[in-house]
Parts: sequence; C-alpha cells; structure tokens
Amino acid sequence: MDPRSAYVHIPFCHRRCFYCDFPVVPLGDRADGATSGSVAAYLRLLHQEIATSPGGPPLATVYLGGGTPSMLSSAQVAGILEVLARRFGLAPGAELSLELDPASFDEDRLAGYLAAGINRVSLGGQSFDDGVLADLGRRHRGADLREAAGWLHRARRRGALASWSLDLIQGLPRQNTANWDHQLGEAIALEPPHLSVYDLSIEPGTVFERRLARGDLALPPEDLAADLMDLTWARLTAAGYGHYEVSNYALPGHASRHNRVYWSGAGWWGFGVGATGAPRGRRRAHPRTRAGYAEWLAAQGEEPAGAEAGMPFDERLMVGLRCREGVNMDRLSRQEGLEESQLEGLRERLGAYERRGLLRVEGPRWRLADPQGLALSNGVLREMLAWWQELEREPLPAPAA
Ligand code: SF4
Repeated sequence: MDPRSAYVHIPFCHRRCFYCDFPVVPLGDRADGATSGSVAAYLRLLHQEIATSPGGPPLATVYLGGGTPSMLSSAQVAGILEVLARRFGLAPGAELSLELDPASFDEDRLAGYLAAGINRVSLGGQSFDDGVLADLGRRHRGADLREAAGWLHRARRRGALASWSLDLIQGLPRQNTANWDHQLGEAIALEPPHLSVYDLSIEPGTVFERRLARGDLALPPEDLAADLMDLTWARLTAAGYGHYEVSNYALPGHASRHNRVYWSGAGWWGFGVGATGAPRGRRRAHPRTRAGYAEWLAAQGEEPAGAEAGMPFDERLMVGLRCREGVNMDRLSRQEGLEESQLEGLRERLGAYERRGLLRVEGPRWRLADPQGLALSNGVLREMLAWWQELEREPLPAPAA
C-alpha cells in the first residue's frame, strides 16, 4: 500500500546543541532562512526530490522536522507544502506539523506558517531552566519558551491551530527528582495538548560524549533515571495526559497522527538530507550531507526515486513510468532476465500509445509524454500489467549472466 504520510527534513540550525548528532548544518545565531543562499539551494533540491518522487495517494500527515524548520520563512514553508500538494495532494483535514525552536520565530511568523496551512506545531522546549539550557548549548531561554507557548495558545483560541506539543528532555546532567518535578510542573502549567519527553542519550561525536569521556558530565545514575521516568508518568497522567507511546503523552484527541504512522507500519515518505522514509515497508535512509544528497538526487535521473532493485518488476515499471524521467527498460529487463523478443512484444502491444505520441521510446528509456501521456498513464500501465501477468504464467528464461 502506498504511504499517506511524509517526513520532510530541514537540516539547518543556528548552532549545534551539545548533545545533538542529527544531520544539521549550523548557520550562525543571526542566520535567517529567507536570506540564506544555502537554504535556497537546499530547498531547490528538496523541491526537485518531491516533484520527481513516484507520487501516490493524497497525504494524510506531513511533518516538517529538523534541524530548525522555524528558520524558514512562511513563504518557504508554503512552498514545500505546495510541491507536496502538487505531487501527492493533501487529504481533507490532513495533519500538517512543523517543528519550532522557541527563539527562532515570533507571533507574526507563526501566523504566516498557519496561513500556509500548518495546523500542528511541535515546540522544542527541552527545559525551562536557563542554566540547563545553556549547558545543553541551546539558544533559547525559559522566557522564550513561555512566550512562545502563549502565542500558540492564542492561535488555538482563534481556531488557527489544531494542536501543539512541547518537547522536554529527562535524564539531564544534575537532574534530580526535585528539580525534575519542578520542570514537569512548569510544563503542565503551560497546558500543552501534547507532551513528548525524551531521555537524553549520549551520541558519538557530540560535545556531551567528549565531556562524559573526560568525567565532566554528571548524568543521573540508572536508578534515579528510572525514578525520573516514573515521576513523569505520575505527574502527566494525574494531569489528564494519556501515555500513548513510550515518550509521548497527549490530552484526549491530541495524539499525533503522524507519530502513529511510524509505529503502525503503514509506511511513510522521507524527503531531504538525512531523512529516513519507509515507503511500501522498506526503510530507506537518505545521505546525511548536502553534497551526498545532491549527488544521490542527480543519480535518481538514471533510476527514478523509489525504483529500487528490491522492488518487484511490475512495481518498478509502474513507479518508473509515473515519473517524468520514465524508466530504463534495457536495465530493468536485464535485471529481470527478460529476452529481447519479450520486450519487443510489449512495445508492439503498446504501439497505439507510441503512435499517438503518448509513450516515448528514447533509446533504452521509455517514458510517458508530459502531460498528456502521464494523464493517460492508467491505460498504459493497465496494459503493461496485463502483459506482465500473462508473462508470469509462462516460465521465465534464466537471468543473463
Ligand atoms: S536545535 Fe535540535 S536539531 Fe538543531 S542542533 Fe539543537 S537539538 Fe540538534
């Protein structure tokens, strides 16, 4: 089944936090996506990837994560949603989420995102304690977080925002039950409809890993970490939050539909540097650098995105032909061990489409003319599928050496 969800990665941040090993590009504290050449260049590639993806049914959930997506202007966010809408369509009532960093947006920018179609926000708070935030290398402070939460509440009251979530980290250096209890109290007082509480994990290559190695990071001992987790559960469930996933709590009706997709096995598209997708049940990680991503994307022209060797022949054929670049039939039939005469048989069968200019055979590449051929693709694809089903009933020749 084709996925109905998409994750889009925005890899830019102002700076790299000390615990973070995500594929991010720090652009400096004053950087703004609207004026950054690096951001513009990346968005061109991202649009290209989405526009040339196999496409599929309208998306029911979209998640713009990062990185710091709130470094983008509302026009840049609208541009991403538009290209998704053109390629897939957006289902009525689709959940369209955006991650926001408290110090990288204001109320006007939020209004712009909501006008662009965003209806759910995930606020990367992590802590209310200024000392802890500084220790994490975060750019925002507790006051920024409280102010941002106020804007989100106002947007909800106006009916412009369906829901929002607050992220917190537990198990931080010098955390104990008393100060964590205080943090949870602050979070509950802000009344976020959804809360994600993640455990700090020390990742290779981070500042925190180096500090831990030199004995300069006082992490809570294991039994205290378990107590902190119990305390989280007790405080949040007492405040009316349902614990619907190990790190996620929500008031009734506010569980993230996008999160559920990750866990349900329904599959999702992943777009952008470092993004992981699992279309049709196969997990695929994108290159983690912009150069690697650009190279990988250029190679997709040779073999359309999604047309993996592991995919059944008929699926590769269908996915390839639904892309503007079409499909390299020589390579595909070689991989499948088809004989030249069998391929000629298919071409003959599709002769009417070729004579009308709807199917173009350009050397080894077969593609549907754009837009008329693509508009009629169902007829061509049905014919191809029928041909393949007939062929499958016959014993196949041995694959070429
Ligand atoms: S803002 Fe988030 S993605 Fe960016 S460096 Fe910090 S933790 Fe990583």
